[in-house]
Amino acid sequence: MTKQTQKNNGSDTGYRKCEVCGLSFEGRSDKRFCSDACRNANKRQVQRISGWQEPAFVEKIHRMLRHNRQILKERLAGESKLIISKTDLIEAGFHFGYCTSIFSKEINIYRFCYEYGWLEVENGKILLVKNDRHTEL
Ligand SMILES: [Zn+2]
Repeated sequence: MTKQTQKNNGSDTGYRKCEVCGLSFEGRSDKRFCSDACRNANKRQVQRISGWQEPAFVEKIHRMLRHNRQILKERLAGESKLIISKTDLIEAGFHFGYCTSIFSKEINIYRFCYEYGWLEVENGKILLVKNDRHTEL
């Protein structure tokens, strides 16, 4: 097990109640648990609760969106507009189904991953754009 950092100023020790089992124990004011077993039990419980609140697919989708944004950012390389082939995005592992906002202009539907957007144009080409307005909430 990892050794806890000791911050011993001696002035804040006393009796307190373990947050897991309720036993009282002697320790510093920042100690919340009577033992490693209770500390680990609390950690497992927190992980279970957060796992329940946010299922694994949430993190997976976050990763896809970040991946998409990175691909668009690298292709644009500081430009505000660029036409590339769709194949290039497919080969880079771009996920066309994942975006953070949609913007229609006349008959065109732009999809954005944060500030970077794409529009399918003719002949397997994709127009990439950058527009910071899409990150304003
Ligand atoms: Zn305990």
